[in-house]
Amino acid sequence: MQTFSIVVFDGDGIGPEIMAPTLAILTQISEAATSYRLAFDHHPMGASHYAKTGEALPEASVEAARRSDAILLSAMGLPDIRYPDGTEITPQIDIRIALDLYAGVRPVRIVPGHPTPLAAPGPVDFVLIRESTEGLFHTKGTGEVTEDYAKETLRITRATSEKLFRFAFDLAAQRKASGRGSGKVTCVDKANVFRAFAYFRELFDAEAAKHPELAADHAYVDAMALWMVTRPGAFDVMVTENMFGDILSDLGAGLMGGLGLAPSADIGDDNAVFQPCHGTAPDIAGQGIANPLAMILSAAMMLDWLGVRAENAEIAADGARLREAVEAVLTEGAILTGDLGGKATTEEAAAAVAAQL
Ligand code: NAD
Repeated sequence: MQTFSIVVFDGDGIGPEIMAPTLAILTQISEAATSYRLAFDHHPMGASHYAKTGEALPEASVEAARRSDAILLSAMGLPDIRYPDGTEITPQIDIRIALDLYAGVRPVRIVPGHPTPLAAPGPVDFVLIRESTEGLFHTKGTGEVTEDYAKETLRITRATSEKLFRFAFDLAAQRKASGRGSGKVTCVDKANVFRAFAYFRELFDAEAAKHPELAADHAYVDAMALWMVTRPGAFDVMVTENMFGDILSDLGAGLMGGLGLAPSADIGDDNAVFQPCHGTAPDIAGQGIANPLAMILSAAMMLDWLGVRAENAEIAADGARLREAVEAVLTEGAILTGDLGGKATTEEAAAAVAAQL
């Protein structure tokens, strides 16, 4: 029996409201498993914790996260709790740097029931990988601003890009093996204009050459913004720089019909954080009406990732089963929260997923 230790950050606003039913579902799955158990370990982090203690991301929490098998995080930050310089508390971003979580994984999948704005989306199931530690975020917080100009620097390194592209091709191979993808990786860049992106593409091509069984191609980011809308079914895995990925991942959430359905993972060599794309929704916090599905889908991604990493087929199958249970609730459309046009509470929507399981 394998035991996986999961560090949990409950977060702010709707964070604890969507985390509690997600942990209940994971407990139900874990207790029925014959080859593994999940053990949850809660640690503090976030804006409310900062308001109480003056610390947003305690070192002990980072260390617990570093030692864990996986990290579940809901959402952090509250608009009226800020550092003295006026900026918001964003430990969910700081932990990516602390644990070197370079691959931001944002799946975009549309099944019947998704409130997509596309008229006829066809089957859509691709994954956007956003590099999350460098690129145009390299000078985050330290950009140069003078009376006459402002300057930020984009940095692409060989070490991070090589790891990123290896991750992208490995993911495409896994998706192909499981029948979910065609086995194609698309490098999204601006290599026609910037030397840094020509370098990025060169490193991508070097990794592609090691995977003759997979297909590889390139797209300029501006064209990709168009194609994600006009032919989203044409993609499998796409990989891009930090800022481009930041923008395209919200476009992906828009294609699925909103933030309440968009899961994500931030993955490094040794650690991984799983969290929904949305924030703490202070406008609906405390009412028990938040949509828990993005959090539950992020938990399904955690099971997928643990399955591959620990070579445990049961936990991988449970990840797929949990995602399918969420999709069945969406497709049936009878028990949905207000953001999806329904009247269900958070608890009722989560119970509908548990019932599907
Ligand atoms: P938000 O994502 O919290 O909310 C945007 C809108 O979407 C709101 O109307 C909200 O009610 C709705 N919404 C979001 N999640 C929902 C859910 N699960 N169910 C139903 N409706 C949902 O974005 P915001 O209002 O710009 O930010 C609020 C706070 O969250 C800010 O302090 C911000 O810094 C923080 N934030 C955190 C993260 C994160 O932790 N990853 C991401 C984005 C924003």
